Formats: sequence, C-alpha cells, structure tokens
Amino acid sequence: MTLAQRIEEVQRTVARAARRAGREPNDVTIIGVCKTVDRDQVDAAYALGLRHFGENRVQDAARKFASPLADDAELHMIGQLQTNKVRVAAPLFDLFQSVDRPSLIDALEREGERLARRLKVLVQVNVAGEAQKAGCGIDAAPALLARVLESPHLAISGLMTIAPLVTDPEQVRAVFHGLRKLRDELCRSHPDATLDVLSMGMSDDYAVAIEEGATHVRIGRAIFQD
Ligand SMILES: *Cc1c(COP(=O)(O)O)cnc(C)c1O
Repeated sequence: MTLAQRIEEVQRTVARAARRAGREPNDVTIIGVCKTVDRDQVDAAYALGLRHFGENRVQDAARKFASPLADDAELHMIGQLQTNKVRVAAPLFDLFQSVDRPSLIDALEREGERLARRLKVLVQVNVAGEAQKAGCGIDAAPALLARVLESPHLAISGLMTIAPLVTDPEQVRAVFHGLRKLRDELCRSHPDATLDVLSMGMSDDYAVAIEEGATHVRIGRAIFQD
C-alpha cells in the first residue's frame, strides 16, 4: 500500500468506529506518529491532508522540525520527557501529552513563563498500573491535575494513556474505559478544568479506543510502515 492508501484506510477505520459509538468521525483527531520516518514522509503525509504529528524524542524532533511545520499543523510530544530537555522541547511542540510528575509540570511552567507562552498539556496516566511504564497512577492524577491548574503558564487539555501490548485489542478495552471514567470523575471534582482530550489508541487498538471515547488516536505503523 502507498502512504495515501494507508492514511485513507486509517480514516475509514476511524469513521466506522466513531459511527459505531454514535460519534462523528470529525470528533476524532488522527495523530501520525512519525518517529520512525524522515521529514520527507511527514511532508508527504501533510500534502495528503494529515495535520497532526507525534514524536517521542526531543532530539529527533528538533532535527526533523528544524524547519517548522506549516501553521495549520500541530506537533505532539508523546514520549517520556526529561526535565533537562524541556528547554529544547518547549518551543517545538504544540501539545505535551506525557506529563506525569510534579517535577515535569514545574519545569514546563518555568519554560512557559520564560517564553511568555501557555503550554498545552495532557496528564499521562498509567491506567493498567504496569510496572516501569510511564504515566502517573490513577490515584496520583487528581494532585497532578491540581498542580497544572495552579500553573499560570500551563493549560490542561485532557488525559493520555498507553495501553499494554496485547494480542486482542478487546483485552485493553477496560484500560480505555478506565481513562474515560477517570476524566469524568476529574471533571466533577475540578469543574474549572477543561478535559476535552482523551488521547488513547495506537495502530493495533485505535478502533476500540474510539468506541470508548478517544478524541485523539496516535497512529505510527499503520500510516508510516509499509
Ligand atoms: C510509537 C508510539 C505510538 C504509535 O505506535 P504504533 O503502534 O506504531 O501505532 C503511539 N503512542 C506512543 C506514546 C508511541 O511512543
């Protein structure tokens, strides 16, 4: 399949999953995770209509996007972010999806202040409670959300999770359901927070994630791998 065919196939799968859940296909944003490909593939995907791109390494992203994307495109930081990379990362990304600890919140806040910008963030939650995986525990999410809300140069947009690797995506439906449930609880306990974004679902499980309420799916292999 060509890049165009792979993008169309993902768009069709997104639309079908959205309709099954009684949702509009346009309510789901496809993020092309371009961490394994060079800039020419990103530009080709942009020319085919993709507007959101995800990277998991700051240094790779800094090199790949030394010449910035067009104004109507957005770059998402989806990988673990070390605080000593925040200075390089802050001007590069439109949304920081992997915010999972107080020290990172504070580093992003300092950098937002320095740039006189409000950085958009998601709190990443390790819903499945997998050991040694990124994301805060479900119990830690309320305190992290509160800390973001207290940070004048950060803007909370929602939550992100990475589901465990499984053979059948049905096995992780409960993880996606859990993130949505947590979002709904946090909306009740923090009425001042806007938590519209649920970033969940990757190449193998995004249809299930959409059925459970994903607003953003992060698709790498299904778009960028032959
Ligand atoms: C690589 C990556 C993806 C995309 O994974 P695929 O299985 O290739 O779709 C999504 N989210 C994160 C955080 C990633 O690191």
